[in-house]
Amino acid sequence: MLQPENFDAALVPGFRAAMRDHYRALTAVEQASLATLRAADVFQPRDCPVCDQPAGTAQRLERFSRPDFSLLRCPGCRLVYSREVFCSVTERQRYARAEADPDSIPQAFAALKGSAPYARLEQGKIDYVIQQLAPFFPQPADMLDIGCAQGAVLDAFAVRGWHVAGVEPAPDFAARARTRHPGVRCGFFPGDAPEGPFALVTLFDVLEHIERPLAFLAAIRDRLRPGGILALQVPNFDSPLVQVEGAASTVVTPGHWSYFDPASLVALTARAGFQTVTLQSYISELDRLLAHPPEAVRATLGPWAPEDLATLRPADLFWRQLGFKLFGLFRRPE
Ligand SMILES: [Zn+2]
Repeated sequence: MLQPENFDAALVPGFRAAMRDHYRALTAVEQASLATLRAADVFQPRDCPVCDQPAGTAQRLERFSRPDFSLLRCPGCRLVYSREVFCSVTERQRYARAEADPDSIPQAFAALKGSAPYARLEQGKIDYVIQQLAPFFPQPADMLDIGCAQGAVLDAFAVRGWHVAGVEPAPDFAARARTRHPGVRCGFFPGDAPEGPFALVTLFDVLEHIERPLAFLAAIRDRLRPGGILALQVPNFDSPLVQVEGAASTVVTPGHWSYFDPASLVALTARAGFQTVTLQSYISELDRLLAHPPEAVRATLGPWAPEDLATLRPADLFWRQLGFKLFGLFRRPE
């Protein structure tokens, strides 16, 4: 049986050093892209994207806010969301520009994900996810990966006999995935995606980028067969690394429009018509957490923090739903 410890970067000696240049390059292009967008004045304010409660009634999360980008917690549905979003034209252009530009964000991501240490962990995670799905799929079926990038998830399912389809906004990524998987389309879900219906939809690190997450999840439910499964991964707003870093966290950034914790993710998926089958957390980022001052780490962890922080193990975070990522399976009722 695979465990989350099998793909935990904090447990791989030398991983951070090997990846440092890739992360620096990615941060640099992200910062440059944001500076351009800020100068172009493309932000617009909004109310809660799930229940439409006015932003003026919401609590501003000061520790996670900057002058031009603030996070709010909705008093109605409890979702944490960004007060500002890009206008939709800008948002689409960001992905479509893609790798024609060698300094683009997709290009920097491709370099990061293509490096051997990263790819090894990513492969381990996909294998773990497929293992989690096995009890629900005694036979291979048909699946759609939304935001399939260059098709790594599709590869893993296809080799196990699944009939795979994907949708990906970055044109070069979509083209590359399509060389192996003819069912990949370039564009955005739901408009540009294959119709289905599917037995499984996978959604990894996508939902936080979606301006209207409830409508998006409802559209996924409609593309699933009754009894079909949505497998979803999002950054965990409750993770101690995010909490200790506040507005400096790489998770807290324009382009991430919603911030999920276990309670708000379960509530949102239920609102979209799903039953929660399982919800877990993985990827500890324990080494990055412990690089912060011990008193700050203790304050973030709360009363359960051990006397000696060096005794912390990834599993101590995982079972408390404090991993860096949330992973859930959600079923469309029969
Ligand atoms: Zn709300």
